[in-house]
Amino acid sequence: MAREIIRKNNADRAAANMADYERALIEWDWETFRGWLDYCPGGGLNIAYEAIDRHVANGRGDREALRWLGKNGERRCYSYADLKRETDRFARLLEDLGLGKGVRVFSLLGRVPELYIAALGTLKAGGVFCPLYSAFGPEPVRARMAIGKAEVLIASPREYAKKVAALRPELPGLRHILLTESPGNTYPGATDLTDALERTHAEFHAAATAPEDMALLHFTSGTTGTPKGAVHVHEAVVAHHATGRIALDLHDGDIYWCTADPGWVTGTSYGIIAPLTAGVTMLVEEAEFDADRWYTVLAREQVNVWYTAPTAIRLLMKAGADLPRAHDLSRLRFMASVGEPLNPEAVIWSQTVFGKPFHDNWWQTETGGIMIANYAAMDVKPGSMGKPLPGVEVAILEVDGDGTKVVQEDMATGHLALRPGWPSMFRSYLGEEKRYAATFRDGWYLSGDLAMRDEDGYFWFVGRADDIIKSAGHLIGPFEVESALIEHPAVAEAAVIGIPDERAGEIVKAFVTLNRGQVASDALSKELLGHARKRLGAAIAPRQIEICADLPRTRSGKIMRRLLKARELGLPEGDLSTLESRAGSAT
Ligand code: ATP
Ligand code: MG
Repeated sequence: MAREIIRKNNADRAAANMADYERALIEWDWETFRGWLDYCPGGGLNIAYEAIDRHVANGRGDREALRWLGKNGERRCYSYADLKRETDRFARLLEDLGLGKGVRVFSLLGRVPELYIAALGTLKAGGVFCPLYSAFGPEPVRARMAIGKAEVLIASPREYAKKVAALRPELPGLRHILLTESPGNTYPGATDLTDALERTHAEFHAAATAPEDMALLHFTSGTTGTPKGAVHVHEAVVAHHATGRIALDLHDGDIYWCTADPGWVTGTSYGIIAPLTAGVTMLVEEAEFDADRWYTVLAREQVNVWYTAPTAIRLLMKAGADLPRAHDLSRLRFMASVGEPLNPEAVIWSQTVFGKPFHDNWWQTETGGIMIANYAAMDVKPGSMGKPLPGVEVAILEVDGDGTKVVQEDMATGHLALRPGWPSMFRSYLGEEKRYAATFRDGWYLSGDLAMRDEDGYFWFVGRADDIIKSAGHLIGPFEVESALIEHPAVAEAAVIGIPDERAGEIVKAFVTLNRGQVASDALSKELLGHARKRLGAAIAPRQIEICADLPRTRSGKIMRRLLKARELGLPEGDLSTLESRAGSAT
């Protein structure tokens, strides 16, 4: 693994507010962060109040809050005062329907303004919001609404007709359907959202929810198996706000773009809540990934802080370095990545192309917010996830049978574990108490990931516990092998799995996709195997390689190694509800 360090210069340190940063490491804890919020007048803690109303109360209502870029070139801007008015009306609408605290509101919408208004309006009314990714098929939608006991659904007429209308008899608890863009709608039992909102009175005072009141339901990505419904509470906002400032470097006046969809936890924690609590301008791009358009958006909208994912970064790398050089990206100050391990090659590429590195950070649906990060002012070690945030206690554990032991040695692989108690921690897996209880051991939360810690306190991702390969007495983490393959100029992406072998127990098999202009051949396969052997040694390097057109990945962009393995071994493919449809084939 690459060991060079990207040292931050003084300008970066100044931009990151070095004094804040140094103090954070030493002094700040969750109590400090609780003090950064305003709380509802008269008491209570409500995410929507912290995200919107307090800015208006503090005289900052005219600042631009949401800048929406539609896929057909439209543009809509909402100030904090506009968002307050719209979310007040949405909350009032729920109240007028006789729905209040605890009501379960689901959405099946693309990234349109109504989604953001519904999410915050529901929270304002004291309800629970569950955003579903709009490209889900009917069965994943039904299953999630059944688990989450959906009472209200907000959807576009198209998605509703295609995916939910026929399923209504199976969802007896679903009482209200609110459809966007459907004036004079013809669906029996559905209401037009715009009409309904127009009939409400504007003013609404955010419900004085308690910190432990349920606020959000988020399903995991389903990378390792059946997705789990993680329950989050209003107190999570303490972490969203603090980590947005510390790990994403959000500052007053910033224009911020999180490319994640709110159907995944990143798109809510950091695509709605953290930027709004920070009072910055949050950009929402409706369309899906396109390298040229993304650079155009970054330049034209003068984005300062950008939060994206390794899959997107690898696609940008694949599109070449000439594209970004053709745009003025000088306003970009801080770039961060989450969702999968960020290969050192990607960090080095961004340092070369943008003059600054991507800052990797680690967290999960269950943790609700960033736990380990490369902060703005920190020297970056490419390939490392960074260091724990203030208030977050992380350990590497040896887990066997019922017992655990904290691993003290540097660079020893073990289970990445967190000490429970941070505000954005999930409070349960909905309807799966046993599965929830099984994530805790000896006072630790076990993340399901394996990692190492180095002598400077930086953490290094090794792999998901499920993906670890055991070969001739070695434990092989896929990330290291994949990163070595990606160093080769022909390789765009790589995924490795273990396949059974009589002598070694398992051997490593690699699946790779190629960069533009590269052609698959036996000679190239041999060259790639040779390159990996040279970089990693014969014990760890792949023995087999397959060049593919694409890799199977989740709709949130994560490579599904379990599916590659199931297909390779002819085993059942398991839960495919989150599989991205275009990436179904490994050959
Ligand atoms: P499921 O739990 O259903 O299998 P999932 O774990 O992919 O799906 P998420 O909660 O969306 O669902 O993803 C969290 C996981 O993503 C982490 O546990 C880790 O494996 C991976 N991950 C996220 N960020 C990073 C990172 N910076 N480096 C390495 N891995 C990461
Ligand atoms: Mg997981």
